[in-house]
Amino acid sequence: MKVLVINAGSSSLKYQLLDMDTEKVLAKGLAERIGIDGSNVTYQPADGDKITITEPLKDHKDALDIIIKEIADPKVGVIDSIKDIDAVGHRTVHGGETFTKSVVVDDNVVKKMEDVSDLAPLHNPANLTGIRAMQELLPGVPEVAVFDTAFHQTMPDYAYVYALPYELYTDKHIRKYGFHGTSHHFVAIEAAKILGKPLDELKLITCHLGNGSSIDAIQYGKSVDTSMGFTPLAGLEMGTRSGDVDPSILIYLENNGYTVEEVGDMINNKSGALGVSGVSSDFRDIEEEANKGNKRAILALDIFCYRIRTTIGAYVAAMDGVDAIIFTGGIGENSVTDRAKICSNMKYLGITLDKDKNRERGKAQIITTPDSRTKVLVIPTNEELMIARDTVELTEKK
Ligand code: AMP
Repeated sequence: MKVLVINAGSSSLKYQLLDMDTEKVLAKGLAERIGIDGSNVTYQPADGDKITITEPLKDHKDALDIIIKEIADPKVGVIDSIKDIDAVGHRTVHGGETFTKSVVVDDNVVKKMEDVSDLAPLHNPANLTGIRAMQELLPGVPEVAVFDTAFHQTMPDYAYVYALPYELYTDKHIRKYGFHGTSHHFVAIEAAKILGKPLDELKLITCHLGNGSSIDAIQYGKSVDTSMGFTPLAGLEMGTRSGDVDPSILIYLENNGYTVEEVGDMINNKSGALGVSGVSSDFRDIEEEANKGNKRAILALDIFCYRIRTTIGAYVAAMDGVDAIIFTGGIGENSVTDRAKICSNMKYLGITLDKDKNRERGKAQIITTPDSRTKVLVIPTNEELMIARDTVELTEKK
């Protein structure tokens, strides 16, 4: 079964075509600057050279039209005909409280997605554009929407209701939703395989650390708490996002000459590791500066690792224990020093990192010594594969 996975943003679109009999990627690429001057599509077949097509793309449909033509092109394509695409899986950011799992898209689902769009005004409309474009280009081919928030819908109310007037939850749907659910779920499933135990017998803490970062407490296969909140701004220090701050700071700033827009821009785009370090939002640059002794770069990394450690501690308390901690995402998978620093003060969990294993990159494995009571794993995330797996499961059943 061949599944096309689409991750449509407002002006870009990532895609992968997977052969789900082998779970191998046949081709992948990216459309950029959709609706803007200088747009292009890249196409990378698994066994061929990358091709860049520079053409005006007025909308997502234009981009997807080029993509499916390349995929089925007689010379560079990886399938004989677009009819060989059996199903399409869409990464979708916000499912509100409506979507607790992935669903096959129909008119009713589109309507419900529109209803929750105000919760993710930058993302959901773009995701819907991708869905509508595929309906036109591949009529009759089943589409599945996989929601970033869905995995977290198992959280108990005391974890997701904010201590605000309760009507804000009931009338305005203001609550913790959590994000990165597809990634947290994927690495939890893979961790269970490596640990040789069923997921529903494990207490796991998954740390997705990248430009955006979040941590998830997964008890017996279910998300029971997570660090992002009503929006992906909450929780940890991120590349440019502040994570949790005392909300009164924002009121204070607005009472002292800052506009709401300026404060919003500050906490989303000028804070986090960039704001503290003054160097960059990219953790490689910050680590390089920290190694040279730059105090603010060191502080940015100290804040990052400290918050991760204390959030892990909170989730150990939430689950009354933990069997394994998993690192994933660009930083989680690659930063040897951050992993070592985060795990340095975890004697209470009986964690000792295997220094050699911790230095290896890109490999899914346990990186603690065999006598460590709590295991630590690195698992490269693969949201596209997770989306494709859900797509197969739902469309095969139909
Ligand atoms: P992601 O959003 O998951 O693609 O992650 C991007 C982040 O991962 C950026 O901040 C990168 O600097 C960071 N990253 C990638 N490779 C490394 C590395 N070797 N060491 C530290 N950070 C890294």
